[in-house]
Amino acid sequence: MYSIGPLTVAPGGRAQGLIPVGTSTYGVELGIPLIVVNGAEPGPVLCVDAGVHGDEYDGQQAVRQVLAETDPATLRGTLVGIPCMNTAAFEAAARASGLDHANLNRIFPGDPEGSYSFRLAATFVEQVVPAIDALVDLHTGGTFGEIAPLTIVQGGYEDLATGIGLAAGHELVWKGGKWGGTVRHPTLAAGKPAVTIEAGGGTYREENVELHVSSVRNIMRHLGMVDGEVELRDSYTAVTGTFARSASGGFFLGHAEPGDACKEGDLIGQVVDHYGTTLEEVRAEKEGIVLWVRRIRTVRPGDEVVIFGAVEGEITP
Ligand SMILES: [Zn+2]
Repeated sequence: MYSIGPLTVAPGGRAQGLIPVGTSTYGVELGIPLIVVNGAEPGPVLCVDAGVHGDEYDGQQAVRQVLAETDPATLRGTLVGIPCMNTAAFEAAARASGLDHANLNRIFPGDPEGSYSFRLAATFVEQVVPAIDALVDLHTGGTFGEIAPLTIVQGGYEDLATGIGLAAGHELVWKGGKWGGTVRHPTLAAGKPAVTIEAGGGTYREENVELHVSSVRNIMRHLGMVDGEVELRDSYTAVTGTFARSASGGFFLGHAEPGDACKEGDLIGQVVDHYGTTLEEVRAEKEGIVLWVRRIRTVRPGDEVVIFGAVEGEITP
C-alpha cells in the first residue's frame, strides 16, 4: 500500500483527493489536490506538480494528462500528480493567491503558523516530501511573458538533480537560480532530486502541454518506471539568467523571441510612451540567449521585461 496525505492506494490502483490546508471564508475546504497512480510493480515515487503560480496553465493540464494516460498495470513505482498546487492563485487567475498575495515559489519551507500560502508550503513539506523520491515542478513564463523551454537545476545540488534535469529533454539548463524558497529547495534538502521545467507562458498552448508531457514521460523512463529508451541530447547548454527590469513605465515593444541568440548590444525591446517616443531601450548586456520576453504590453517601473541567459558552458550526458 502507498500512503500520501489522506490517500492510501493499493498496488495497481488509482486515487484522488485533497490534502487539507484550511477553509475559505465561506467554509469550503482548501488544500492540495492529489492524483495518485500506484504501479503494480515496486519502484520510485515521482511527484509532478504544477500551478505553484496560479496563472501558469500548461503544466496543470500536462499533469492531468500524464496521470490519466499512465496505466498502473505496467507502472513500476508510483506517480503522484499535483495538478494545481496553488488553487487560491488559480482562482484569482494570478501568479499569487488573493488570500495573502505571497509568491508561493519564494516561501518554502513555509510556516504552519503563517498565512495561507505559508501553511500550504509547510503542509507540502510535512506531508508530500517524505512520501516521494523525486519531484518535477512544471512552470511557464506566466501570464506576463513567455519563456524558452528550459530546465532549472538548482546550484549546489547538481549531483542530485542533473540526471532528471537532462532527461527533461530541453537543451537549455539553467543552473541556479540565486533565489531560495522554491518547492525544489525542501525536496533537495531532503536528499531527493528535484527540478523545475519551464515552457511557454503568455497564453495557454497545447504544444506547451505536450512539451511538459514528453518531459515527464522521459523522466519516468530515466527512473525505470516505464519501459522504453531514455532520450538524451548529445549536449546541453548551461545558462544563468539575469532579469532586466524597466525603469520607465509605458508600452513594451519586443524585438526578440524566447530562445533567440543575442550579441552584446542587440536591441531586445523598448519602452515607448503613448505618443511613440522611446523612453527606454533594453539591450543585451552580453552575448547569450534570450530566455524570457514580456508579452503583456503594460510596463510599470520595476517590471521585468526580459530575462537574458549567459552561456556558462556545455553539459554532456
Ligand atoms: Zn512559475
